[in-house]
Amino acid sequence: MIEDLQKLEKDALAELAAAAQEDQILGIRTKYLGRKGLLTGLLRNIAQVSKAEKPLFGKRCNEVKELLHTRIEEALQRQTRQKKDDILIKEKIDVTLPGRSVKYGRTHPVIQIRGEICSIFASFGFSVVEGPEVELDYYNFEALNIPKDHPARDMQDTFYIEENIVLRTHTSPVQVRVMEKVKPPVRILSPGRVYRRDSDVSHTPMFHQIEGLLVDKGISFGDLKGILTAFLKKVFGEDTTLRFRPSFFPFTEPSAEVDIRCVICKGRGCRVCGQSGWLEILGSGMVDPAVFKNVGYNSEEYSGFAFGLGLERIAMLKYGISDIRLFFENDIRFLKQF
Ligand SMILES: [Zn+2]
Repeated sequence: MIEDLQKLEKDALAELAAAAQEDQILGIRTKYLGRKGLLTGLLRNIAQVSKAEKPLFGKRCNEVKELLHTRIEEALQRQTRQKKDDILIKEKIDVTLPGRSVKYGRTHPVIQIRGEICSIFASFGFSVVEGPEVELDYYNFEALNIPKDHPARDMQDTFYIEENIVLRTHTSPVQVRVMEKVKPPVRILSPGRVYRRDSDVSHTPMFHQIEGLLVDKGISFGDLKGILTAFLKKVFGEDTTLRFRPSFFPFTEPSAEVDIRCVICKGRGCRVCGQSGWLEILGSGMVDPAVFKNVGYNSEEYSGFAFGLGLERIAMLKYGISDIRLFFENDIRFLKQF
């Protein structure tokens, strides 16, 4: 029996020395030390050992068991270390390689222009207010002096949700919503998305406008000219020349379109300005007393002016972009340039 034990010890250690894989080592543990393992089997047969040899045999069995446990544990630890080393060698970091730079996103050109315009008007004391994009017919048209049968409705190809609910065709309804809530003086700017059924190189079904409104005692057309002139010079440069043309909007009286001298040809005439030398920039006018009446303002006491402009148009002129649809195609190569 003692000889069997000695052979078992020798075999086990030899097998362990040859085992390269973790599962081989675990196999050896099961083979010798498992519940039905060889060493366990030997111990079970201790009855066959002579009485004199029993203590020695028992002692040796425990020694072998102890030794195998230790050796197997060591082999497993070696295995784990080896695995880690292999990974380090395989995935070694080469610190001499050039680093990968983090790619920063950037602000969309239309949003950049919006920020610029808002901060210019903030310096004039205007605060920014937003309104709903799904709007009641009343705010989009009627309260702005555009009744149901008014021909001005034909100028705007409207998306109707229901008979009395539309996607707002301009940011002007915010004027009414604000004036319904607050008493004058009012000095607000309202940027946002607007919608019209229109699509070509200069129109998209969704685009951005900014609406401005100033109401107080004694506001005149001179104030309108002063503020808009100061604003356009800040956006397009101090040498910008402006022209006010009489126009018509149902919610302002008198109304004026504001043009600037063409930024491309400096007034000599080019394709962008249609050879006229002038570019239409915004619509404006003194708030019509009918609108004041709708919101409960006394037009004898208060007067004011409003204006609206398209953000894409400003961005196109400022950056020399010829097709408005580029803004919304999400082409990174285009957007990266701003
Ligand atoms: Zn021009």
